[in-house]
Amino acid sequence: MPALSTPHSRQHKSHKPSHSAGNGVGSTSLSFPAGSEIRSAAEQPPKGGFVPLLPRLQPPVQPSPMPPILVLGAGVTGLSTAIRLRQAGASVRVVAAVRPSEHPRAHAPGTWPPYPASLRAAAVWYPYHVSDPRVERWAAATLHELHRLVDEPGAGVSIVPFVELFRGAPAEYAWSAAVRRFSAVPADRLPAGFASGWEMEVPFVDAPVYMRWLERRFLDLGGMIETRFVGSMGEVDMPGGVVVNCTGLGARRLLDDADVYPCRGQVVRVRAPAVRAWTVSDDPAAGLTYVFARGHDVMLGGTAEDGVWDETVDPAAIDALRKRAAALVPATADAEVLEVAAGLRPQWRGGRVRVEREERPGGGAVVHSYGHGGSGFTLSWGCADDVARLALAAT
Ligand SMILES: Cc1cc2nc3c(=O)[nH]c(=O)nc-3n(C[C@H](O)[C@H](O)[C@H](O)COP(=O)(O)OP(=O)(O)OC[C@H]3O[C@@H](n4cnc5c(N)ncnc54)[C@H](O)[C@@H]3O)c2cc1C
Repeated sequence: MPALSTPHSRQHKSHKPSHSAGNGVGSTSLSFPAGSEIRSAAEQPPKGGFVPLLPRLQPPVQPSPMPPILVLGAGVTGLSTAIRLRQAGASVRVVAAVRPSEHPRAHAPGTWPPYPASLRAAAVWYPYHVSDPRVERWAAATLHELHRLVDEPGAGVSIVPFVELFRGAPAEYAWSAAVRRFSAVPADRLPAGFASGWEMEVPFVDAPVYMRWLERRFLDLGGMIETRFVGSMGEVDMPGGVVVNCTGLGARRLLDDADVYPCRGQVVRVRAPAVRAWTVSDDPAAGLTYVFARGHDVMLGGTAEDGVWDETVDPAAIDALRKRAAALVPATADAEVLEVAAGLRPQWRGGRVRVEREERPGGGAVVHSYGHGGSGFTLSWGCADDVARLALAAT
């Protein structure tokens, strides 16, 4: 299916409780930043309240403070990264034009920045429309983390029997060995017109539910979020500090980066409670077709239109994709339509993902993480681990 996917101690007694990642993402324990109340016995005032007036010849060694980190963007990339940074003990503030909990459906097409792709996705773990040598590693790390999050109440992650169908020979994937129960669909179970297929068990993320859970998780870890449009990098420059740029398509204007472009995906949300299918076919002749059941609706897709910035839907494309979806899963044919929408996948340089650290002339750095194409959820935790390491290096 994918046009661009890669084939193939000592315990201090603190006066404050020590934070841990608790029941959420990861298990890294949080250390308090410098300035928190960890005192050695020599620093404690003596019993009886007597404090000697002698000058202190050897001041206690303070750990060097970890500078605050600003994360731009509250899509799946920004929030996953912000969580990882917070878990490492950094003080983190997220600034984003749109955050998941704020009535995100109210968006006039053409408004800048475009509506976050993360709130339009379905989303299945599946490397799609991205081509980067690191995809396999990032996808494997995310697969592992999403399997773990299945047991997390309210996260909206489940494991589903995913089926991919082909009119001809099946595509070969370098990541297939990492996926549970990856096997060929038996010939007698292939729908009419299909020559081959893969079935596998993969995590499925109910995107609206998961995005709100990510936001809550970050706030519970002590992070801060500010809803604000940022007009230029100059507005958020912190001399000597680190800014993590997870703005997706927003990076095009923020950085004046002409290599950022969209791949439009049109979708229809329908009510079809009887449908329990997670099926996709990317037929070069007919186009991309998928049916993804979620708890509250079923997502029918889709399209993959490179370079199209228009966030309005094209009625003819919607009509065509509904017919294709009905051919794949007939029970969707008469389903009540809840919403038609278009989302813009953030692409960069022909399918690569921009994950890199850029030192600033006046000190400090910007760490970029954008251009995840059709795989932002699939790569989210693997990228977040790398980006957190880059952001914390030498701070
Ligand atoms: C229809 C559709 C289906 C998809 N299905 C899947 C799927 O099944 N599996 C999968 O893995 N992926 C899927 N994707 C792709 C996935 O949604 C994206 O790769 C991912 O959401 C990108 O996340 P992001 O956080 O990088 O960007 P976004 O989600 O776009 O978030 C960008 C953030 O930056 C903020 N921002 C941008 N500019 C500024 C600015 N100037 N000032 C302040 N804030 C700013 C925005 O407000 C937002 O908070 C799909 C995408 C679409 C459109």
